[in-house]
Amino acid sequence: MSKCKACGGSEFRREEVKEVFHVNGHYALVEHIPATVRMQCGEKTFDAETAEGIRKMLHERRQPARSVAMDVFAY
Ligand SMILES: [Zn+2]
Repeated sequence: MSKCKACGGSEFRREEVKEVFHVNGHYALVEHIPATVRMQCGEKTFDAETAEGIRKMLHERRQPARSVAMDVFAY
């Protein structure tokens, strides 16, 4: 893996993350996504296969594993 474009850091770890996606006017939380997380700036990147898998999952409108209520704050 190359250096981060944002911070120049080259240290990273593999981690399972959760991420909120916005699809067709809905928000969807996806958990347990294998990601590369930059140690320095915390930037998360998914490999192409993972990103495609998430995209498919969300667009197929598959039944979610569970639903959660989400509080929304404006800063
Ligand atoms: Zn970085």
